[in-house]
Amino acid sequence: MERVLITGGAGFIGSHLCERFLAEGYEVLCFDNLLTGDMRNIAHLFRNERFTFFKQNVTNYLHVSGPLYAILHFASPASPIDYQELPIQTLKVGSLGTHNTLGLAKAKGARYLLASTSEVYGDPQVHPQKEDYWGNVNPIGPRGVYDEAKRFAEAMVMAYHHHHQVDTRIVRIFNTFGPRMRRRDGRVVPTFIDQALRGRDLTVFGDGSQTRSFCYVDDMVEGIYRLLLSDYHLPVNLGNPREMSVLEFARKIIALTGRESRIVYHDLPVDDPKVRQPDISLAKKLLGWEPRVSLDEGLRRTIAYFQELIHAEPKG
Ligand code: UDP
Repeated sequence: MERVLITGGAGFIGSHLCERFLAEGYEVLCFDNLLTGDMRNIAHLFRNERFTFFKQNVTNYLHVSGPLYAILHFASPASPIDYQELPIQTLKVGSLGTHNTLGLAKAKGARYLLASTSEVYGDPQVHPQKEDYWGNVNPIGPRGVYDEAKRFAEAMVMAYHHHHQVDTRIVRIFNTFGPRMRRRDGRVVPTFIDQALRGRDLTVFGDGSQTRSFCYVDDMVEGIYRLLLSDYHLPVNLGNPREMSVLEFARKIIALTGRESRIVYHDLPVDDPKVRQPDISLAKKLLGWEPRVSLDEGLRRTIAYFQELIHAEPKG
């Protein structure tokens, strides 16, 4: 039986990946230090005997006994609020954590897949973003801790690929949403849904004209799975090219939840990218992949998840 190690496996995308690899028949080792991950995301997996969880900080030396087919490095704070509250941990998991997991991949002869990000493009001056764009990142701005950690991680992965012949892949993940995002992680999807479901005002930052493109998590996981099985070593964008403004998105959430929330405007955070949209022609060609779940359908599933969380809260 093939074994895969997923770091950040108790996180949002990580936990969906654990599920997917179990469903495909793999044995799954899940590492997470639970800094932003949550045991509730993986509690249902413990009854599967092919699943093992280790509370592990991947910035420390890693030991795994037995063979590994693949390592997927997904550990990192990933919301702007989280990584600004955890700047050193974010820099360490992207640098030391990537180094340690690559060292493990080299020792085990395992495939390696790095979760990189559209943040490597920074506040992009090329639109939509293609993989050959080098980006526009402020290294010392509030997002620098995440953006530069991931850019360093990509450089480290390519160095292990060229210098040590490790069989690596890099996915650049654009905004992704779905069940198991943390209600308070500060990102726009859980924030707006939670605000709308509680009848509170939706907090649009700036004038809401900045754009994002949102991909449902099941589509993202499918793309990541296909990329791992491919033989392509350069970065690949995965995301949903359907672009919309944050204001349009706020209106959509109000419409889909059927609530009467108002929209209020707050200051735009420093270095907030003005536009973001993936060019996914490479993923289409290479992996035969494109998103299948419509934004409305994905949002309906996500709203249902947050509604259940609210119902489960103690009353009073
Ligand atoms: N945003 C917003 N209100 C919120 C949270 C976020 O208007 O309560 C905006 C944010 O300024 C950004 C976009 O929504 O332009 C997406 O933010 P998110 O934190 O989800 O991630 P990002 O794509 O910036 O990494």
